[in-house]
Amino acid sequence: MIEQKRILRTSLPGTGSAALAERRKATVSAAVSGGNDLYITAAEGAILVDVDGNQHIDLGSGIGVASVGHSAPRVVEAVTKQATSFGHTCFMVSPYDGYIELCEQLAKRTPGDFAKKSALFNAGAEAVENAVKVARAYTGRPAVIVFDHAYHGRTNLTMAMTAKVQPYKDGFGPFAPEIYRLPMAYPYRWPTGAENCAEEAFAEFASKAHIQIGEDHIAAVVIEPIQGEGGFIVPAPGFMKLLREWCTTHGIVLVADEVQAGFCRTGKWFAIEHEDVVPDLITTAKALGGGLPIAALTGRADIMDAPVPGGLGGTFGGNPLSCAAALAAIETMESEDLAGRAVQIEELLYRRLNAMAEKYPQIGEVRGRGAMIAIELVAPDGSKTPDAALTKAVVAGCGRRGVLMLSCGSYGNVIRMLPPLVIDFALLEDAMDVLDEAFAEAIG
Ligand SMILES: *Cc1c(COP(=O)(O)O)cnc(C)c1O
Repeated sequence: MIEQKRILRTSLPGTGSAALAERRKATVSAAVSGGNDLYITAAEGAILVDVDGNQHIDLGSGIGVASVGHSAPRVVEAVTKQATSFGHTCFMVSPYDGYIELCEQLAKRTPGDFAKKSALFNAGAEAVENAVKVARAYTGRPAVIVFDHAYHGRTNLTMAMTAKVQPYKDGFGPFAPEIYRLPMAYPYRWPTGAENCAEEAFAEFASKAHIQIGEDHIAAVVIEPIQGEGGFIVPAPGFMKLLREWCTTHGIVLVADEVQAGFCRTGKWFAIEHEDVVPDLITTAKALGGGLPIAALTGRADIMDAPVPGGLGGTFGGNPLSCAAALAAIETMESEDLAGRAVQIEELLYRRLNAMAEKYPQIGEVRGRGAMIAIELVAPDGSKTPDAALTKAVVAGCGRRGVLMLSCGSYGNVIRMLPPLVIDFALLEDAMDVLDEAFAEAIG
């Protein structure tokens, strides 16, 4: 048992982490970078233990993965049991029940009161790629619409769908064709004000889609119901509904990319449920596997059956260990009401962050849902000029004190909080005290 407490035994990084950083430099591609160079030897709940024995509060959850907590007991037990029976056969070659049971769970949990089917993959990007494949096969159309600030992955097709060049796309082109980027309903930065955002953004969307692409060339609209890497942007209320109606009118597949926001993170099983919108296809990954790699594409049965038999798959997709882990993670979310817990985390974070925003005018906006909350940092003069340097300094200040925070945003000026949903509230309060200290220090 790891005590759920922040403990600093050495200065950071300790000698053990420093030694590993040296070995890493010699052998790991420099292109795999970022992070705090603290090397982890154990983790439980919301605590990461580094090789020097320091205990860190994890507000990143391995980028939204450890929603059920690190080393969640049900997940550990299920994976151990599966590993002692069999580890891999390939579902396309020698199938097994865990794959089917997980697809049943996905059909049951995802929004939409209609017959649903799923296919399982290894990572979020792969689920998104397959959503595009399925939508194209179903509609017989080529074009895909994505949005400003979107993040959909790092494979060739998903790089094309991702908005930000640095660091995700620089030097990696040419990119896949027939991907069109249209404006996102980003309330905080909408030129005529948040109250006009949904309608104006949709009008611009519909006009550009008509003039620049043509509705009957469009297979899919792919959108994150809350944008993740792009800065935890919650679309203006009503925008998703307008998109849904427009897609229905034109026979276009609406894909909700719930890779980051799905599985109880936002206080509901799926973030799109807050919008009272039912998508045709949903991509999931991150939290789905309770720490093991797995991704899914779930949606309307007739759409999911459109590709040719054998058209979807992969060697490792829906690996037995990952299926066992995902089933255990879903059971944990259900029996511990982790969606309800995300709502309580939201209350705590908004209370603490709004209080900080009163003190620090550099906090331009506190936003997000459930345990997916962010602050956007800007110049304190009302201009909303992004402050990436302050963001970096605050994240580093938290890191030095044993609180792991992640930054994000197209302008690199957003600090996002994605704690495990099982986090002790005392630990979360402690993390907020640390954030406050780091802010005071960074502003000087
Ligand atoms: C992380 C992420 C992806 C890519 O998932 P990987 O597992 O890293 O391939 C896709 N979409 C969204 C919204 C994500 O947050």
